[in-house]
Amino acid sequence: MRRARVAPPPRAADVAILGAGAAGIAAARRLLATGLSVVLIEARERVGGRALTARLAGQAVDIGAHWLHAAQENGLVEEARRLGLPLFDAPQEPRLVVGAREADAAETRAFHAGWSQLAEAIQEIGAKDDLAPASAALERLSPEAAAFAGTLAFAHGPFACGATLDSVGAADFAAARDDLDLFVAGGYGALVARLADGLPVALATRATRVDWSGREVRIETNRGDVHARALVVTVPVPVLARGDIVFDPPLPAGTRDALHALRPASYEHVILAWPGGPLREAANTTIAFDGDPADNLGLLANFDGGVLHYADLGGPLVGRLGSPAARADFVRESLAARFGREAVAGLRVLHASRWGEDPLSACAWMVAPPGAHGARAVLREPVGGRVLIAGEATSSTLWGTIGGAYAEGERAARDAATLVGGIAAGARIG
Ligand SMILES: Cc1cc2nc3c(=O)[nH]c(=O)nc-3n(C[C@H](O)[C@H](O)[C@H](O)COP(=O)(O)OP(=O)(O)OC[C@H]3O[C@@H](n4cnc5c(N)ncnc54)[C@H](O)[C@@H]3O)c2cc1C
Repeated sequence: MRRARVAPPPRAADVAILGAGAAGIAAARRLLATGLSVVLIEARERVGGRALTARLAGQAVDIGAHWLHAAQENGLVEEARRLGLPLFDAPQEPRLVVGAREADAAETRAFHAGWSQLAEAIQEIGAKDDLAPASAALERLSPEAAAFAGTLAFAHGPFACGATLDSVGAADFAAARDDLDLFVAGGYGALVARLADGLPVALATRATRVDWSGREVRIETNRGDVHARALVVTVPVPVLARGDIVFDPPLPAGTRDALHALRPASYEHVILAWPGGPLREAANTTIAFDGDPADNLGLLANFDGGVLHYADLGGPLVGRLGSPAARADFVRESLAARFGREAVAGLRVLHASRWGEDPLSACAWMVAPPGAHGARAVLREPVGGRVLIAGEATSSTLWGTIGGAYAEGERAARDAATLVGGIAAGARIG
């Protein structure tokens, strides 16, 4: 992975940005293009945040985000094309496995019909009723599809949202754009990191306090203070909500309420090498296992033309299992229970992710429970004419995605440029 330049933070810039994930990187690129000076303040020793590509078993593997969702409006698709990185189709609908066997034609038909029925019913309910949970749509499944209600609830809930359908507002689910998905050669994390090449990033620099009581913003970090005319905050919402960065004066009550109204979603990868397993012929295929939604996993088999699989866990199960090692054991035992112990003899766990346990992410992304979809828009409102919040959580339509974070970083940069332009004349900072 190519790295951004490691530099100590400059003392001042027109705009300071907290967090060098997709949103922070997008904001910095956009602000630099308008001629403003920028500093990106990043607590980790790398850029990319929840986008990270590693090499496992000789293959580029995304430890966080992997899918370029909503490709038609995802700005990263254009960036990948500009950089000459090949894009290829992601699987659209999952293949159903019942017990240890491939579903038959009737089961597959019922499952796929249920897949669309559920998504459409959530759209209809969400358009009318801000207070309804997405699970209200389960009642609308046809009798054939209802035979797979648990599997469908898992696929659209913990597997797609990182949360159960009763904890996600139908309005929030309905607002999320859902069209073509793509993968990018070399990994999504590597693409995001490349976009930070040459940006003025201060790595290993943790913001601890923001003083926005004066005309300027003063950011305290473990490596000294930074002064700026405006601040773009892209740190994950749970990090902000629990007060890891002290705001002086405190953020307005409306902003604080909105931070607390959104809920952290849990989603973790367990990355497997399973070359001789029963799914060895399923190239680049998502697998839905018929089963209990509270205890299920989703699989992306043989991704990127290799023999590795993502086994993905989401929702309350992630917390219940409690650790990456326990999640890896759960995956092995679930697959053994389904396919037999002999079938998993050659299965190796290469990595189990820990985004929820990581204090700098503390979630996979944020979901809005019933009644809370509007919190995303509240977070987009500028605070005090100089502080802007951006990230996946502030996107109403692409929440939970890199594409959403990137678009939100660009939006915050436009707002910051306007605010800085509007601030009383004086020598430019930085
Ligand atoms: C397992 C998993 C799978 C996912 N799959 C997909 C997928 O397939 N497709 C997709 O589009 N999205 C996916 N996502 C979601 C996606 O990764 C996020 O929506 C996106 O990366 C968020 O970007 P961001 O810029 O908002 O936040 P982040 O990437 O989290 O960036 C915020 C940055 O702030 C930094 N920070 C935190 N505290 C401080 C501080 N005090 N001072 C300075 N810096 C600080 C963090 O270190 C981090 O770098 C997945 C997420 C996970 C966890």
